[in-house]
This record gives sequence, structure tokens and C-alpha cells, in this order.
Amino acid sequence: GSEVILSDMGSANKTVVNGTTLNAGAPFKLKNNDQIKVGNVIMKFLEKGNIEAFTNRELNEKVTRDALTGAYTKGALLERGPEVMKRSETLNEELSLIVFDIDFFKKINDQFGHSAGDYVLRELARVVSTKLTRSEDFFARYGGEEFVIILINNPLKTAMEVAERIRTTIQGTHFEFEGRVIPTTISIGVATKLKDEDRWEAFFKRADEALYASKQGGRNRVTMATGNFLT
Ligand code: GH3
Ligand code: MG
Ligand code: MG
Repeated sequence: GSEVILSDMGSANKTVVNGTTLNAGAPFKLKNNDQIKVGNVIMKFLEKGNIEAFTNRELNEKVTRDALTGAYTKGALLERGPEVMKRSETLNEELSLIVFDIDFFKKINDQFGHSAGDYVLRELARVVSTKLTRSEDFFARYGGEEFVIILINNPLKTAMEVAERIRTTIQGTHFEFEGRVIPTTISIGVATKLKDEDRWEAFFKRADEALYASKQGGRNRVTMATGNFLT
């Protein structure tokens, strides 16, 4: 009929769907977007009508970039976030988030002008994407001067180190526009996915609350999210 059933025939490697290992011989009815892991290969199940949508998304990669900074857009983030959570569940990998916001950016606009503000956004994004992230990281601009980096397969300790490096690098970067130096700092929140955390919104919210704590604590600092512990 219209159903697609998956069944593991007792393989040594097992078959894993969305992080859950199938019982040998038991039928499993696949739904759209299910992630199937066999050995170290992951496949995504798309219902017939969705293949076209999938191809369109590949083409859309081009328009998922923010024009000013070249970072991924908020729309791209909202699509990628839940995906990477599923992936980390399936592969049993750690997943970390770094969110940051420029300190007193309104003052930068007021004092140096909107073009200077745009320059800071562009230059900051260039430094972060070329010097402070790896190609497998997902770097997005999700608000006016708010950015997020998804660190796939990275534990909290690494994320905290990367965040601190970003903070000090931005503080030490010489931002100069039309002959005027613009001192710039950022506040950061860091979170690593908890074992039972499966909603992207909840995960992102913890990182965002940590960022808010960095603001409250005096800005130009890194805060670890509640629920996470450095070991
Ligand atoms: P805080 O330290 O609390 O983050 O203070 P803030 O001044 O940065 O506060 P807030 O986040 O509210 O201000 C963001 C400002 O960023 C407001 C808006 O005018 C400015 N902004 C947003 N998008 C752009 C942009 O694309 N270009 C420029 N130049 N400014 C922008
Ligand atoms: Mg700000
Ligand atoms: Mg802001």
C-alpha cells in the first residue's frame, strides 16, 4: 500500500531509527523525515511527495545566507536546529551551542552611524567565520546583532573554550571605520544538549538565557547554561 515498513533481519550492526534501536524482526512503519542509521551510514526517509521539497531545499542553500554578513539566516537556523538535534540523538554525539550578542550596539550606531554599525557586523562575522569556526560548524545571524554557532559533535568543554576564544578575539580586534576606532565586545551564552533534551526550542532557550546572564553580569563575558556542568 502507501506504507513503507523497515525491519532489521538480525544484523550485527543493528538498525537505528531516530536514536532508537529496532528489535530484530519487528516491523517499523517509517514516517517522513525519519533518520535511519545502519553501521556508520545515515539515511533520511522522505515520503514521495516530499522529494521535490527536499531538492528545492538544496537549491535554497544559496538564499539561506544573510546578505550583510554571509552567515546563515534565522530561517536556515530554524530548519537546521531540529535536524542536528536528531542527528546527535541518532549518532549519540554531543551537541553544543554558542549564542552571542554585541554589547551596547545601539550606542555604536548612535555614536558612529548606522554604516559603521553595518561595518562592525560584517567584520565581526568575517572574523568569526574565517578564524574562529571550522567548516562543519553552523554559523547563523538570528537577530540584528545576535549570532549563533552550532558545534556538531562537540562537548561542553570545547564549546566553552571556543566561546572564550571568540570573546577575547573580538575584544582584541581592531574595528576601524572611516578613520574612527570602534571598541567592540560581545556577551556569550553556551549550552550543550542534555541527555533527555529533544526540543530545539528548549535547548536554544537555555543558551539564550545564559547569554542574558552574561549581559546581567556586566557584559563581555561567557556564561554556561543551567543544566550543564563542566567535568
Ligand atoms: P545590549 O548590550 O544589552 O545587547 O545592548 P544593545 O544596545 O546591543 O541592545 P539591543 O540588542 O536591544 O540593540 C540592538 C540594536 O542593533 C538595535 C538596532 O538598531 C541595531 N541593529 C539591528 N540590526 C542592525 C543592522 O543590520 N545594522 C545596524 N547598523 N544596526 C542594527
Ligand atoms: Mg546587543
Ligand atoms: Mg540584541
